[in-house]
Amino acid sequence: MTIKGSVFHIIHGSFVDGYGIRTTVFLKGCPLKCIWCCNPEGQAFNQELKVIAADCNGCGNCVSACPHGAIQLEKEQDDIRLDVDRKLCTNCGKCIDVCYTNALSFFGKDYTVDELFNIIQKDAIFYRSSEGGVTIGGGEATWQPEFTLALIRKCKENYIHTAVDTCGYVTSADGRQALAEADLILFDLKGMDSQQHLKNTGAPNEIILENLKNLNDLGKEIIIRVPVIPGYTDSQQNLTATAAFLATLKSVARVDILPVHQFGKVKYSQIGMEYKLVDIQLIPQERQEQIKMLFESYGLNAQIGG
Ligand code: SF4
Ligand code: SF4
Repeated sequence: MTIKGSVFHIIHGSFVDGYGIRTTVFLKGCPLKCIWCCNPEGQAFNQELKVIAADCNGCGNCVSACPHGAIQLEKEQDDIRLDVDRKLCTNCGKCIDVCYTNALSFFGKDYTVDELFNIIQKDAIFYRSSEGGVTIGGGEATWQPEFTLALIRKCKENYIHTAVDTCGYVTSADGRQALAEADLILFDLKGMDSQQHLKNTGAPNEIILENLKNLNDLGKEIIIRVPVIPGYTDSQQNLTATAAFLATLKSVARVDILPVHQFGKVKYSQIGMEYKLVDIQLIPQERQEQIKMLFESYGLNAQIGG
């Protein structure tokens, strides 16, 4: 049977997901549910209805097409209000077929490895000129393990550099093999205290730390990504424990400190999820520099952003 992967986004010309110019593909489905997630459309494994209410012209086609009565439309002069009851919606897509303004679409599209590789390959000239390549992220790429492994092998057969951006919660043999065969690992480390990690992400961190140690033992090149989220991961205790742990790993090439941002906010309303960081305070530059210096004081190569 042909393996297919569910992809919700492809970025061409990324400079932040590894070295050089990269094409980043985002696979659907993640075992974690981080409170600060900036790709909430990547959490569910299934396709999800995406609603851009601002593009709706109020024609009402979708209301008639929905077999489950999941869509409510209210019009008052120029004011159009479109709501989807996600408890009733089965993501059947019938409303998308009759929406001519593209206010409705899906997050998530299936590709075979060859189909996705053909898209990736079009950017090959940029990889060669910049020592870039392909980054597979998500969601959590290793939770589509066979697809991710096959895509990595296909890229490597064609001399394209591969990176995987992982949350580290990898439980399958093929998922671990995908990490072992990738050229570069971008590893998100979201907290050293397992109970706090569970509260913040929905999963404890033992498997994550174990996988990171194993990748280190394999000698993989690893870039660590540390999200700094006020009230969740930014305590001095957590950051110090993170730096002390990373200082024991020989394969960590760099630590990217990722201050909280709100770029993903708009996507929450598009899929009917609640955004929980509405009142979050952004981190002042001075504090960001202090955190960078903390990691450097442990002998680590740290940068802000990445
Ligand atoms: S995807 Fe299907 S069930 Fe969901 S709102 Fe559209 S027509 Fe209704
Ligand atoms: S079909 Fe599209 S444009 Fe028409 S009411 Fe539904 S979402 Fe709006």
